Amino acid sequence: MHLHSTCSDGTWQPGWLVGEALRAGLEFLFLTDHDNIEAKEQGWYGWFEPGGIDGTHPIGRRLTRPTEADFPVPRLLMCVGAEVTPKNSHYLALGTDELPSPFLPSQGIIDHVRHSGGVGVVAHPDHRGNRRFGIGSYGWRDWSVSGYDLVDLWDLMTDWQDALHGLPSAYFAYRFPAWVLRGPKSATLRRWDEQLRERPAPVIGCCDNHGRLYRLFRDFHLLPYPVAMRILRLHVLCEPLEGLEPAVAEGTLLRAMVAGRSFIANDFWRRAKGFRFSAVGKKRTALMGDTVSPSGGPWRLRITLPTEGRITLLRDGKPWRVVVGRKLEERVDSGIFRVEVEQHLPRLFGRRLSNRYVPWIYSNAIRIVAG
Ligand SMILES: [Zn+2]
Ligand SMILES: [Zn+2]
Repeated sequence: MHLHSTCSDGTWQPGWLVGEALRAGLEFLFLTDHDNIEAKEQGWYGWFEPGGIDGTHPIGRRLTRPTEADFPVPRLLMCVGAEVTPKNSHYLALGTDELPSPFLPSQGIIDHVRHSGGVGVVAHPDHRGNRRFGIGSYGWRDWSVSGYDLVDLWDLMTDWQDALHGLPSAYFAYRFPAWVLRGPKSATLRRWDEQLRERPAPVIGCCDNHGRLYRLFRDFHLLPYPVAMRILRLHVLCEPLEGLEPAVAEGTLLRAMVAGRSFIANDFWRRAKGFRFSAVGKKRTALMGDTVSPSGGPWRLRITLPTEGRITLLRDGKPWRVVVGRKLEERVDSGIFRVEVEQHLPRLFGRRLSNRYVPWIYSNAIRIVAG
């Protein structure tokens, strides 16, 4: 979600991104160039299969390694949205070809996307930039707005740039980008927990990757596309997209995202595919994104993981239960619940270098509230 190509300030052509996404095992990709959908006009929209795509590119694959995370996918759904880009307060317009002018105020941009039938995302809301490295601040400014569909909770670009403190840390972040991540910003989490008290407030995660090229003795990509694609991923739970027309499949994905049927994960070491969070009531099962009544309970919250992790179940924004394992079940009456999972850093030569846990999965919320 949220990549830039040569159609704006990215360094790879859309076709290279399609080829790499297929190799990385992505099932969908949302390209969001600044204020244009040129990639769509060039034919980079729809289903693509491996082979036949010029996936060769000069540099940028040095940092990737074949991992068990890579698995072949038969087809990739390439979606082309845009990032509407005023000076700050960037907004993703997905599922629409009618882009608003970036000179509109934030509310005008949101309304335009909504009226054109698109889905809008508040991008990198708490991006602060990095003065030391000359990176501007593009965070969201006006929170009095309404009508946006989604918020970018975990933004890879924001998180990664926050790790750049000086040259040594920048070198470390360049060599080991997945190691320096800290998860969504606490300000973003706090705001989200507040919003969840009022409404479902679905969130997603974004890469916001440009594959920026730098020259220091030789050309190098600071955070290459192949790496970004293997780190921060949005997992969407929806009906199978096989056989659907691209626009129908894209609509299905977007509806699932707006319903909160997704979770965000750092898939670099362990794939999060298979993570589930649900609440089983007397008559129905609630999924991520759902709001249900306490009277349908008692509710049994069920969290399952594909492999072991440290699961934190949060109730009303506060850590409530913590378990290391693959499962957590809890009987509850009411509350707003969401899940964060951490993983150990990987072993090196069979040894655990550090006991540090790093962020892995962030779920959408299940709200069990009256009224
Ligand atoms: Zn942006
Ligand atoms: Zn962007």
